[in-house]
Amino acid sequence: MRYISTRGKAPALNFEEVVLTGMATDGGLYVPESFPQMSKEEIAELAGLPYAEAAFRVMKPFVGDCIPEETFRAMLKETYASFSHDAVAPLKQLDSNHFLLELFHGPTLAFKDVALQLLGRLLDHFLGKRGERGVIMGATSGDTGSAAIEGCKPCSHVDIYILHPHNRVSEVQRRQMTTVIAPNVHNLAIEGNFDDCQAMVKASFADQSFLKGQRLIAVNSINWARIMAQVVYYFTSAVALGAPHREVSFSVPSANFGDVFAGYVARQMGLPIKQLIVATNANDILHRTLGENDFSKKPLQATLAPSMDIVVSSNFERLLFDLYGQDGEAINQLLDNFQQGPTQLDEVAWKKARNLFSSFTLDDPGILKIIAEAFERTGELLDPHTATGYEATRQCAWDEQTPVVTLATAHPAKFEEAVIQAGFQGVALPSHMSDLLQRKEEYQVLPAELEAVQQEVARQQGC
Ligand SMILES: *Cc1c(COP(=O)(O)O)cnc(C)c1O
Repeated sequence: MRYISTRGKAPALNFEEVVLTGMATDGGLYVPESFPQMSKEEIAELAGLPYAEAAFRVMKPFVGDCIPEETFRAMLKETYASFSHDAVAPLKQLDSNHFLLELFHGPTLAFKDVALQLLGRLLDHFLGKRGERGVIMGATSGDTGSAAIEGCKPCSHVDIYILHPHNRVSEVQRRQMTTVIAPNVHNLAIEGNFDDCQAMVKASFADQSFLKGQRLIAVNSINWARIMAQVVYYFTSAVALGAPHREVSFSVPSANFGDVFAGYVARQMGLPIKQLIVATNANDILHRTLGENDFSKKPLQATLAPSMDIVVSSNFERLLFDLYGQDGEAINQLLDNFQQGPTQLDEVAWKKARNLFSSFTLDDPGILKIIAEAFERTGELLDPHTATGYEATRQCAWDEQTPVVTLATAHPAKFEEAVIQAGFQGVALPSHMSDLLQRKEEYQVLPAELEAVQQEVARQQGC
């Protein structure tokens, strides 16, 4: 499998190179040159397999010869053993044809674990093979840094530095990061805000000289391996509901478009997905683009579903590349225009997008109302992200015959504040995490100064 850039000017890479590279040198994102196909028989054979084995079969064509089969199988077994539910991604029935796909049984209670638990092990494998060490730097406003930390904890060739704004993340969020005690895990609490953290990480990637030649790696949502890992649960859940003999639809709480793009990939590979519904919070660029061809930025809004608070959906570029017939130059032009001001997709591309995706947006008052309503109807307590997907299913599903799967992207205990605002007493953490508030923490407080942060990272890395 070869991977090409959405901007058309960077060299084609194999899987190993793509995992280690992140963004392409021409500013684009890597995508497979073409999507592998799974026959009806191959899809049917996934029924009843352990999750790790289904994952092996779905991902194998993307990995190609870059990892020996038995090594990859063992890696996947270990990856998904870190989940607290044996099914990894269990389905729950809500009514006659509405299902919830619980993607929050990983170590940090959100769906990002599904991909980051694998990405850490992939990086470790490739770096170990090359005899290199990798340094990961990332910034978090609180809710996603922990998934990267948990993903890197088992790695022996990767050191991770996660910057969070000191005293500006909730205690549970902080503790999910700072109670991970491992020699390669470094939590840096920055005396500043999230933007300060992000600016310092960006500057460090732009000029890596402070690392004296050690490799800096990004694990943000544009890494192809993350998309690939997310393709798997579309297959396992659809097969559980009767695919390939029956069509299935999905509703996906969306922000950077990584998760729902994985659904698109599954469909391109041959999975009979009828409808893909894109659910957003008040940061609704995807809904405006798909609904009205208004491809423009709006100021960031802080919502009750903070993991979906974005201005630009980075992975949308991967879809655009397909909609524009893999014309990298056209994508360059379009995204240049987009950076300069409001723009539109060309009419043909936009119509194609609308045939593929439905969309929906839910603001904060709506989220609170739906959390309460869904509980009344089904007895399920939804987290604020999942609430957007749940209501999108109710508003947008095309027909009554096709089962719809709403992706439950986080456990409600992770966003207790919203649940309390919706009128509930609170939510207990799952039993394997119930001692979180008693665990030992380790983190370092640093000023919001680039030099201080880079000096500390360089010192810890011995360079
Ligand atoms: C990241 C995240 C999303 C959005 O996923 P994208 O791949 O960015 O579209 C939704 N819900 C939760 C809980 C998340 O952490």
